[in-house]
Amino acid sequence: MKEMKPGKILINNEWCEAQSGKRFSVINPATEQILTEVAEGDAADIDRAVQAARNAFEQGPWKTMSARERGRILNRVAMLLDKHKEDFAELETLNNGKPISETRNADLPLSIETFEYYAGLADKIHGDTIPVNGNFFNYTLREPAGVVGQIIPWNFPLLMAAWKLGPALATGCTVVLKPAEQTPLTALKLGELLMEAGLPPGVVNIVPGFGPTAGAALATHPEVDKVAFTGSTEVGKTVMKLAGDHLKRVSLELGGKAPNIVFADSDIDAAVNGAMRGIFFNQGEVCCAGSRLFLEERIHDEFLSKLKTRAEKMIVGNPLDPKTQMGAQVSEDQFRKILGYVEKGKSEGAKVVTGGIPAQPQGYFIKPTILEGVNNRMKVAQEEIFGPVVCAIPFKNQEDLSRQANDTVYGLSAGIWTRDIGKAHRLAKEIKAGTIWVNCYNCFDAASPFGGFKQSGFGRELGKYALELYTQVKSVWVSLD
Ligand code: ADP
Repeated sequence: MKEMKPGKILINNEWCEAQSGKRFSVINPATEQILTEVAEGDAADIDRAVQAARNAFEQGPWKTMSARERGRILNRVAMLLDKHKEDFAELETLNNGKPISETRNADLPLSIETFEYYAGLADKIHGDTIPVNGNFFNYTLREPAGVVGQIIPWNFPLLMAAWKLGPALATGCTVVLKPAEQTPLTALKLGELLMEAGLPPGVVNIVPGFGPTAGAALATHPEVDKVAFTGSTEVGKTVMKLAGDHLKRVSLELGGKAPNIVFADSDIDAAVNGAMRGIFFNQGEVCCAGSRLFLEERIHDEFLSKLKTRAEKMIVGNPLDPKTQMGAQVSEDQFRKILGYVEKGKSEGAKVVTGGIPAQPQGYFIKPTILEGVNNRMKVAQEEIFGPVVCAIPFKNQEDLSRQANDTVYGLSAGIWTRDIGKAHRLAKEIKAGTIWVNCYNCFDAASPFGGFKQSGFGRELGKYALELYTQVKSVWVSLD
């Protein structure tokens, strides 16, 4: 493999080192080797980046550019990403550990689609005219929120950057983006493309660094108008408190513990596929993973036996091999945390049907894991494991199911498997979650909103809904007297 150049910080369309001169190492989780070093941004670099974003917002070409031209730039980003998709797919796989088949077939197409979608939306953002009382002309302007701080996680590094940047740029905001310290490489590479696409200086600034330093500085900076965060619920609470000091607008996309519910009247083989996809996609490092697998008692044993056979056949290993189906967990911390949860589950009385151990002596690989004999109050059923560990929980009837499915602090997503269409729609309404998949799982489209109920956060990304996050409404009254 050719040696990678150290990553830098992007401010005002210029690459620079951290003011402190510090760098941190970026690891390939499949080999535990250092991939490269990256400049370690902290409060001083965030401050410079925010000033650049503020200048770009208040003056210069971005402010005066037509919405259609903004759309054209976003389209060029999509085209450039498409042109370089293989390089991005490989880099993402190296840095994150996810299989190349997934970066090629999910991360890249979805990222490209997100930029395309918001390119098309840029010139369709507008206010209303309002029929107010009296002799007035009243209309609304939908204006950009301003300077936005975006903090993203490591599980879909490029895709999360696309979800954040697409709508922010379509609306005319300027951005300081902080990638996760584990996975900064594709976001930095995207910086190159943004410049090539014609984005003016200061519109997007990218500052790699750690959460408590760079992340916290972004969440508290007085010149940041809005903070958009994706990550764990615990850190989301911290970010909200930090942003609260200046009453910044905040949107949070946080953890989940999704129920994936299989009724006896479902197409069992399709549901087994759905359960596999629900928990083993992206090594289970997915906030909407179907980690609580509710099985109607009658089919519990048959279903688990089929799922076990499939899980044991999964190809786990070298993420760069196109045949690989599950790669490495992102870091040693995650690896240990996940195995720790398996032990916790066992001590609470759960039984390991399969997996629960490392898959290889080197690299952070874990075997696809199924726990049975779990009840919904156990820690493994209540806390987000964020790994390839599914908890099978039996249920008696629909009433018993609904109560348990909603018995969680989270509410990001749910899956329902049944051939009874009435039951599916009733449950879709009853479950407190932002996305419901019926006879499918982990489906995404740039046009369809995504976000949480309860402690899974608030605000909706994707679709036209994300425009709400990045705009504010102004009411203008004009006397006609
Ligand atoms: P995980 O716990 O799964 O690693 P986090 O929620 O910690 O995920 O990380 C998501 C993002 O939040 C990362 O970019 C990380 O650097 C950032 N982050 C972590 N701690 C803080 C913090 N105290 N303030 C702001 N951002 C943070």
